[in-house]
Amino acid sequence: MSDFTVLNPATGRPVTTVTEAGAEAADAAVARAVAAQRGWSAVAPADRAALLRRFAAAVDAHIGELADLEVAGAGHPIGQARWEAGHVRDVLLYYSATPERLIGKQIPVSGGLNVTFHEPVGVVGLIVPWNFPMPIFAWGMAPALASGNTVVAKPAELTPLTAVRIGELALEAGLPDGVLQVLPGKGSVVGQRLVDHPDVRKIVFTGSTEVGRQVMAGCARHIKRVTLELGGKSANIVFEDADLERAAATAPYAVFDNAGQDCCARSRILVQRSVLDRFMELFEPAVKKVVVGDPAVPGTEMGPLISAAHRSRVASYVPDDAPVAFRGSAPDGPGFWFPPTVLAPVGASHPAYTEEVFGPVVTVTPFDDEADGVAIANDTPYGLSGSIWTSDVGRAVRVARAVQSGNLSVNSHSSVRYAAPFGGFKQSGLGRELGPDAPDAFTETKNVFIATE
Ligand code: NDP
Repeated sequence: MSDFTVLNPATGRPVTTVTEAGAEAADAAVARAVAAQRGWSAVAPADRAALLRRFAAAVDAHIGELADLEVAGAGHPIGQARWEAGHVRDVLLYYSATPERLIGKQIPVSGGLNVTFHEPVGVVGLIVPWNFPMPIFAWGMAPALASGNTVVAKPAELTPLTAVRIGELALEAGLPDGVLQVLPGKGSVVGQRLVDHPDVRKIVFTGSTEVGRQVMAGCARHIKRVTLELGGKSANIVFEDADLERAAATAPYAVFDNAGQDCCARSRILVQRSVLDRFMELFEPAVKKVVVGDPAVPGTEMGPLISAAHRSRVASYVPDDAPVAFRGSAPDGPGFWFPPTVLAPVGASHPAYTEEVFGPVVTVTPFDDEADGVAIANDTPYGLSGSIWTSDVGRAVRVARAVQSGNLSVNSHSSVRYAAPFGGFKQSGLGRELGPDAPDAFTETKNVFIATE
């Protein structure tokens, strides 16, 4: 056990100290989760559903408290943080319908029939990153619990506060001990232990592609189920027939939301060459209008970066000779601030164009025609998200089918809706979260033959 001091990213000052678990505590938590899982999966479906609804109600009653924790410990703007806490409630409510719908099949076969059952996988290890501590926690936790699994969750070391509080709310709502445990700690210690522990039967990991690769290799040693949500370098593709005013007005929010610390950030804007100048004229005031400042103040749209180390990393993509077209503003003084930054023109070999910056930096690149736009959009090892702006329905569908990415939006920058599947193509991940089929990923299908002759 050791202590970790959570810093307020907006001030750099300590918020509180959290005791971190070590490998032994992780082993003890897994043992508790194994013991609790038998009872949890035996809770009658309607009762498990009711407990999840009570859990959702407890979250709903603490939205203000959870949001304040996220403002202080992660630097999220208060409006966004309130939405995120409400999203945890909504995801719990959505999956509270699962226990009563884990319905199998009956299959007529020679000499009898087969029936299928959806059995929980057992203990699920949930490894959560620092960028969206509440939503990403909920996406794994809610369907896993609903399907009769128990969960040991490891929040990111930098942002443990809301997950710890949500774990307490689960107990207050009546979830039995050991069903949902939150273990703050280091990824290399607690996270690694969850990956290596033979009694953890599935890992849900969100984070960098590099660590995701290690997690996948670790899971392979046990043939452990794994879902990976990794990085992105998504394109915002603007065609000449688009509503340019809307495309330009929303483009800052497609990349600077959460200070760009978003795997779905549309960090490459691709604009058809014939409308590039007009788009840039409209885009500049939109970028300058983004309200960057104290995340505790209502109306703030963008807060600080998560840490001093991360700010240095983001800044390395904008050296003194970088082709900065224009920038928004950011506060001076303490805290880990970085202004919205637009780079143009940027060559295809520039690191800000090829690598995931995970900060408020966007590149603008012209393209000539539809085929060229699609080719540029796909010229990345990632494939998580993206937007297509056009008034031609046929083109919207053609381009959406051609872009190698898991989550696309047309004339919108929305990425995640809990009722639809979410996940990446290529090196952006493996498997899908959310949507009506998510509980299937937390169950094994069993078939039983019943002889009738
Ligand atoms: P990491 O991949 O390092 O961390 C994600 C989670 O994995 C954290 O909880 C971390 O713990 C944990 N972890 C770290 N090492 C291990 C390990 N060996 N075994 C098991 N778990 C481990 O991402 P970062 O937070 O460092 O962010 C770096 C980059 O990752 C970003 O710049 C971005 O490119 C990408 N990223 C993508 C996200 C997405 O939503 N797709 C989210 C966050 C990051 P701990 O934090 O305690 O070390």
